[in-house]
Amino acid sequence: MILISAILILLSILIKIKAKKLKIDNKIQQGKIIYSDLNIPEKSYFSKRYRITGKPDYIIKKNGQYIPVELKSGNHLNAKKNHIYQLLAYCQLIEDNYNCYTPYGVLVYIDTSKQFKINFDPKRRFQLESIIKEMRKSITGDIIKRNHNEIQRCIKCSMRQYCNQKIS
Ligand code: SF4
Repeated sequence: MILISAILILLSILIKIKAKKLKIDNKIQQGKIIYSDLNIPEKSYFSKRYRITGKPDYIIKKNGQYIPVELKSGNHLNAKKNHIYQLLAYCQLIEDNYNCYTPYGVLVYIDTSKQFKINFDPKRRFQLESIIKEMRKSITGDIIKRNHNEIQRCIKCSMRQYCNQKIS
């Protein structure tokens, strides 16, 4: 009986995941998906220039441009700052790996159906560079204090290979 219940629970979870995925697919920007880390783990991108790595959820090719799409759960009505910078890091990784110009990325909150187009403009490029420098400086310092307990955040973090505070 317990086994049957467990199987039913598992099935309902799988159905929910599938339904969510279908919903997501419909919401994603038009364009050809050329990379997806959602179903099968994809390769990580690496930037020699910034020494960061990361894997966006999707990359869409649209009008000759490569656009990262990052999916997030949670009831967020506005784009969260850490999500924005994670997405911008993916924009940078795409530019460095495809030798192209990436004008923006897309942040999708699957629980609230909210989508945000985040421009990778000069101001944000500068801010991203400053954050990377700051993180690297704190990582090479003697004391680093992690300010959260979210394992998913560490798993997806582009700095995890340098960080001795990561949760894994
Ligand atoms: S890996 Fe390190 S820098 Fe990245 S989210 Fe975790 S604690 Fe923060």
